[in-house]
This record gives sequence, structure tokens and C-alpha cells, in this order.
Amino acid sequence: MDANNFVAGSHTRHHVYLPGVTLDVAKDEIEGSKAMIEKHVGHPIRYFCYPSGGFTPEIAAMVKAAGYNGAVTTIGARKTSLTGISLPSAGCI
Ligand SMILES: [Zn+2]
Repeated sequence: MDANNFVAGSHTRHHVYLPGVTLDVAKDEIEGSKAMIEKHVGHPIRYFCYPSGGFTPEIAAMVKAAGYNGAVTTIGARKTSLTGISLPSAGCI
């Protein structure tokens, strides 16, 4: 994928609606999916997509603390940024 200009991002481990789970579960989904993909691709995963677009300020802060550079959502403006980076998004799978 990298060679074809695709960027691999994370989308949680189990596609959970993050505002509907405890913060401990959310943290495991956010951090665990990043680590799992990084192990497979061999480089840092920089972007996150919220399943069903759902997030709260606490979850966004958790995504940033996990080391992501940005995240996208399908709610509202269809994209958001953690660090001022605006991502053109064709959507999340
Ligand atoms: Zn999805």
C-alpha cells in the first residue's frame, strides 16, 4: 500500500463505537490497534479514523496521546484534526 500512495491508518481493534465504551476499553482499542498494525507494516501508524465517526474530547485526547498525528471522522465536517493537519478523507472502511 505504501508504494501506491495509500496511507494505512488505524480504526480500532474491534470497530467499537468509542463513546459507548469505557475509557479503559477505548484506550486499549486506540493503542492496541496502532501497535498491531505497526507490527505488521514495520513503521509508525500516524492516522486514526473513529468508527462510525464517534468521539468525545476525552477520546480525541487519548488518540493524540497514543501518538497519532491526526484523526478523521465521518460526522459533521467529515474530518477533524488533532494537530492542525487537515486530512482529505475518502472515508474509512
Ligand atoms: Zn468503520
